[in-house]
Amino acid sequence: MTHSQLWAPWRSEYVTADKTERPPGCFICRYLTEASDATNFVVRRSDQTVVLLNLYPYNNGHLLIAPKAHKATLSELNDAELLEIQHQLVLMTESLQAVIKPEGFNIGVNLGHVAGAGLPGHIHWHIVPRWNGDANFMSVCAETRVIVQSLTELYKLLTEHLRTVGQL
Ligand SMILES: [Zn+2]
Repeated sequence: MTHSQLWAPWRSEYVTADKTERPPGCFICRYLTEASDATNFVVRRSDQTVVLLNLYPYNNGHLLIAPKAHKATLSELNDAELLEIQHQLVLMTESLQAVIKPEGFNIGVNLGHVAGAGLPGHIHWHIVPRWNGDANFMSVCAETRVIVQSLTELYKLLTEHLRTVGQL
């Protein structure tokens, strides 16, 4: 029995889907060119970076933070991008704390397929909120768990909070 993987129905669909049927190209770059932030769940854009809801979340509130530029490695990022990414991490953990009250966070970046990067061409940081017992809950429910808050509701809560603190 593994507790390392949190599970959601939409994530399962993503994992089992034929990879060749997924849209070609980079979804982060595509979302940046579209004027559909609410339906793409793009939470916030800054000069150099963008924050998105992960559509295949490991847990409620799972966010992605990426530079706007399609860059694959840490070495390619310039000072402005590095600084803004850190600012976004601070702002978004505060915002998540305010709206869904996690008890902890996992924050990190997967570099390369071998490390689990699903989109290796465009570097992105994950913020995964954690609650005491969120992994243990799986064993009770036969390896399944339910993320109770829909992406739409989470998007609304986060963007409302960011507006309240003058960040949108
Ligand atoms: Zn890209």
